[in-house]
Amino acid sequence: MKNKRPFLCTVLYMTMLLALCFAMRAGGINYTPQTTMYAPDGRTLLVQASQVEIYQNVGWYTEPVRMMYAADGRTLVIPETETELYINVGWYTEPVRTMYAADGRTLVIKTAETVAYENVGWFTEPPIIMYAADGRTLAVNPSDVAAHETVGWFTEPPVIMYAMDGRTLAIKANEVTAYENVGWFTEPPLRVYATDGRTLDIKGSELQAYLNVGWYRSPKDFPVSGAMVALTFDDGPSRYTNRILDCLAKYNAKATFFVVGNSVSSYPDVVKRAYNMGMEIGNHTMTHPNLKTLSADSVSRELNGAANKIASVIGVKPTLLRPPYGNYNSTVSSISGTPLILWSIDTLDWKTRNADKTVNCVMNEVKDGSIILMHDLYEASAAAAERIIPQLIKRGYKLVTVSQLAQAKGYNLVNGKAYHSFR
Ligand code: ZN
Repeated sequence: MKNKRPFLCTVLYMTMLLALCFAMRAGGINYTPQTTMYAPDGRTLLVQASQVEIYQNVGWYTEPVRMMYAADGRTLVIPETETELYINVGWYTEPVRTMYAADGRTLVIKTAETVAYENVGWFTEPPIIMYAADGRTLAVNPSDVAAHETVGWFTEPPVIMYAMDGRTLAIKANEVTAYENVGWFTEPPLRVYATDGRTLDIKGSELQAYLNVGWYRSPKDFPVSGAMVALTFDDGPSRYTNRILDCLAKYNAKATFFVVGNSVSSYPDVVKRAYNMGMEIGNHTMTHPNLKTLSADSVSRELNGAANKIASVIGVKPTLLRPPYGNYNSTVSSISGTPLILWSIDTLDWKTRNADKTVNCVMNEVKDGSIILMHDLYEASAAAAERIIPQLIKRGYKLVTVSQLAQAKGYNLVNGKAYHSFR
């Protein structure tokens, strides 16, 4: 019989090996599977499967991830495979920020490029528009507002204030009243003068209102004692003439009416009334032509026709001629047989048909000895006359006819000569 010991030894050896295997397995030595973990910054790490959860709790992931950035500063860690998806809905793969332009535009840029954008006028916050007294504007960072205010910039358009001595000052809108209370004005001020010596500093735009109630731009504008003026009305009579006559009667004032012969035929009673009230009736031709364009015969017919027409109504021929449009030549002068009366103040009432403008024109330009041209052919002119007559009287003017004005100022009127005023 062969020796059985090697067989027994083999069995024994196998048994021991098996036991060792079991022992090793129970001890867990060098046998557990490993997992790769990923950080958003690209690092990777091998960890034991049992520790995956621990790593996840401190910001590791089991698949490749990346950090995404929003313009408002939010960040998000996403699976790398979804990068494109997030880019499509406004996320970025690197830090970004919103930049602001002075005109309201915004722009999302890489944070690393901030300085480059600031250098070409973009801001990291919505900029504040600041205003200078000279009208310039400037966009600044909110944090720089205070510094700019100390060197004369404003956060809203400043108001320019004016002093009587010519100084100006830029201030905030809410300070206007305080400055007005200590003598500053929101527009260049003016000084007006009263005949009793008082002065008043007013806004330039209020000048007309003050002139209308008896103040003067300068003492040299004060009406001298005995100041007088001749109101003249051309192109009538018309249905508006009586309104003017009523007003003249009310203020015991006189005026001169340069009437058109043809219209005298239409309103003889108006002409008669005016004459009987002491108004002067002057010649303004028969048909209102431009006398410079007419032959001597025609000029003669125009002047004599009107003179005869007037005489047929009031009994006397006119002693003054006003050539239509102020147009005359040597033929007109030699044929006229009367002085030619023009004007020093042309209200252009026929053109503006605006009572305010007519009133302002007269009250701004009137001087002692003025001859004022108006037309009693328009409603607005009648309305203006109703305001001008009392205002002139209030300012100290005596309203007289042209002949009375010439006589009072010592003129000996010469036939054929033209007069614009009597100073
Ligand atoms: Zn005329």
